[in-house]
Amino acid sequence: MTCIFCEIARGEKPAKIFYKDDATIVFADINPKAPIHLLVCPREHHERIYKLPADLVLRLTKTIGIIAEKLQLEDNFRLQLNNGARAGQIIDHLHFHFISRGSDEHLEYLTEEQL
Ligand code: 5GP
Ligand code: ZN
Repeated sequence: MTCIFCEIARGEKPAKIFYKDDATIVFADINPKAPIHLLVCPREHHERIYKLPADLVLRLTKTIGIIAEKLQLEDNFRLQLNNGARAGQIIDHLHFHFISRGSDEHLEYLTEEQL
């Protein structure tokens, strides 16, 4: 099964990557709905939030905090997770939409050298 977000996590498909660590990756949504629209994913393929191992839930939460701080938007973002096709989940690789209408002045993507 081909998964676009697995390909992005493995570096096989280009994306504007804002943050990554050993467990999580954050990149720009290709079709942003707001000035800041990032997708926060586990690097491993998981489909449903309620089946996600607890340690990964914690890692995603930690990453959300890190990116909110980097963007200086700690008090100005929304999270959305579409769970299941009937709720609008198009990509089956679990992801939170991190959306803000705040300033994008701190939105700097990783360079080739930093990847
Ligand atoms: P979902 O509807 O599954 O919650 O959200 C999937 C999101 O992935 C959509 O907002 C869509 O714009 C985004 N998306 C789809 N294909 C790609 C892609 O190839 N690269 C990136 N960066 N985002 C994508
Ligand atoms: Zn995947």
